[in-house]
Amino acid sequence: MSYNVLITAGPTREYLDPVRYITNESSGKMGYAIAEICEKKGWNVTLISGPVNIASPLIKGKTVIVKTAKEMLGSVLEYSDCDIAIFSAAVADYRPKVTTHHKIKKQGDELMMEFVKNPDIAAEFGRIKKNNQISVGFALETQNLLEYGEKKMHSKNLNAIALNNANEHGAGFGVDTNRISILNSNGVLTDFDLKPKIQVARDIVNFINDTLIKKKC
Ligand code: C5P
Repeated sequence: MSYNVLITAGPTREYLDPVRYITNESSGKMGYAIAEICEKKGWNVTLISGPVNIASPLIKGKTVIVKTAKEMLGSVLEYSDCDIAIFSAAVADYRPKVTTHHKIKKQGDELMMEFVKNPDIAAEFGRIKKNNQISVGFALETQNLLEYGEKKMHSKNLNAIALNNANEHGAGFGVDTNRISILNSNGVLTDFDLKPKIQVARDIVNFINDTLIKKKC
């Protein structure tokens, strides 16, 4: 069976002025690996990505490059008529309250800036999600992984969440390997070994196919 899959990946950039922004260390590797596996499965993939240094693995699917969280949300809403949504992007939680039109000039010894909350893209999708749609997210934590992950899963109305321990060597941002556990909305936790991200992607896609889709059908 072929499905329409939407995947968010990479970091977002939140601009202070036309040439400066805040961002994070996300490489996009995990989301891109998931996109590759989904396409190999014959699924129709739309990859919505923040700026990254790796090429899109998609041959038939569509890759949409965005910069800010607001742009990413706009694209997700445009493609929200999907069967499966996988939110692997590391979206900046806050953005500068004001983005100036001109470059900010150097002035005193201190610079104060105000930030406002960005939209939560996974949660926005969760609000409009229909019964036949599946959404999966990620939680990267340095402590209380299971507790925080479970809260995120419920607050974003996800069917499952992949849990990452940020303290663990070889897991999380920037590296080529990852070790995850997947918690589903019935409270069942499945642990996986530390492995290359492409194999982690296969585990996640198989989990979605075997556990989430088949249960719904
Ligand atoms: O709340 P937290 O950022 O830890 O949640 C992580 C999950 O939520 C990831 O799946 C991430 O892609 C998604 N997320 C999002 N929009 C945000 C923040 C997080 O889609 N603004």
